[in-house]
Amino acid sequence: MSRKFNFSAGPAMLPEEVLQQVQAELLDWNSSGMSVMEMPHRGDFFEGIANQAEQDLRELLKIPSNYKVLFLQGGGRTQFAMVPMNLAKEAECVAYSNTGTWSQFAIEEAKRYNTVHIAIDSEGNNYTNLPDKSEWNIPDNAAYLHYTDNETIQGLEFSQAPDSRGIPLISDMSSNLLSKPLEINQYGLIYACAQKNLGPSGITMVIIRDDLLAREPIVSTPSMLRYKIHAENNSLYNTPACFAWYVCGLVFKWVKNQGGVEEMARRAKARTDELYHYIDASGFYNNPVNSAHRSKMNVVFTLKDEKLDGTFLKNAEKAGLMNLKGHRSVGGMRASLYNSMPKAGVAALLQFMREFAAQHG
Ligand code: PMP
Repeated sequence: MSRKFNFSAGPAMLPEEVLQQVQAELLDWNSSGMSVMEMPHRGDFFEGIANQAEQDLRELLKIPSNYKVLFLQGGGRTQFAMVPMNLAKEAECVAYSNTGTWSQFAIEEAKRYNTVHIAIDSEGNNYTNLPDKSEWNIPDNAAYLHYTDNETIQGLEFSQAPDSRGIPLISDMSSNLLSKPLEINQYGLIYACAQKNLGPSGITMVIIRDDLLAREPIVSTPSMLRYKIHAENNSLYNTPACFAWYVCGLVFKWVKNQGGVEEMARRAKARTDELYHYIDASGFYNNPVNSAHRSKMNVVFTLKDEKLDGTFLKNAEKAGLMNLKGHRSVGGMRASLYNSMPKAGVAALLQFMREFAAQHG
């Protein structure tokens, strides 16, 4: 068996130790005589797995007791609808940041229900920078401010939570939750699909403050899209994504054993410092993002001549470096370096990039 370095934006690499544990427990979890895939979701075995995962996530992020943690389905995109349906009245003003493709998808969905006001806009710099705070415009009457903490496609990341001036702050952390410590009290709601930093696809974490659970959803909101119903049922209103939940729990334990989110942040900085430094100095590769706001998860770059893109990707694959192609909407390359990317993966990528530039520069 030879495992490759997978730079996919998601589903992404998982820690090898986690995969090995899944393999070892696949047929018989903890002497239960069953696979986690076969367990009833309301039985004692799965209840233990689910509660432990929640407890570990709470510990990792120091989640205060006035926040509920939900394990839902439907991915990040379902949250684009659940947020406006549950947290604002029909046609009410909601504020959004527009910092890249994922913000835009969230905005489009919110427009179905609400009046969207763009409060923080990166359109003017083609999504390569965050506007200065003096240019932000957050209306006092907005039901909330939604922003995308890390734009997975543009490689643009907030280095700290925006000041929402008392309005509940809603954060899409689909591609960077668990990559850094957070001050949870700053947020009304945080959501993240799992398939990048947290586990396999099929499950989505939602961290929601109690007072927002009390808001009345838009009347037509289906039961399955109501936060309150999921919270009252401990995320077991319907059959959850049991196996994905279990694997996320193993990833949470792994993060704890590695030194927690502080250590994840240190590693992410080390990985990306090295890569951005090389890209800037190379004269062959280019990253367009303002250096203060470059993503520590998704490093985007272009080659000096886009005619070389195909050769770059083909040769990278031969060297065991997979899925470096940038998102189809922006082109170029993207190296996604989530928590599970080992140091050796970054070293191999750098070596390959150096050799390629030397050959083709
Ligand atoms: N938000 C962000 C920032 C993302 O990167 C993604 C997925 N790439 C999503 C939302 C959508 O997630 P899903 O595909 O699970 O719906």
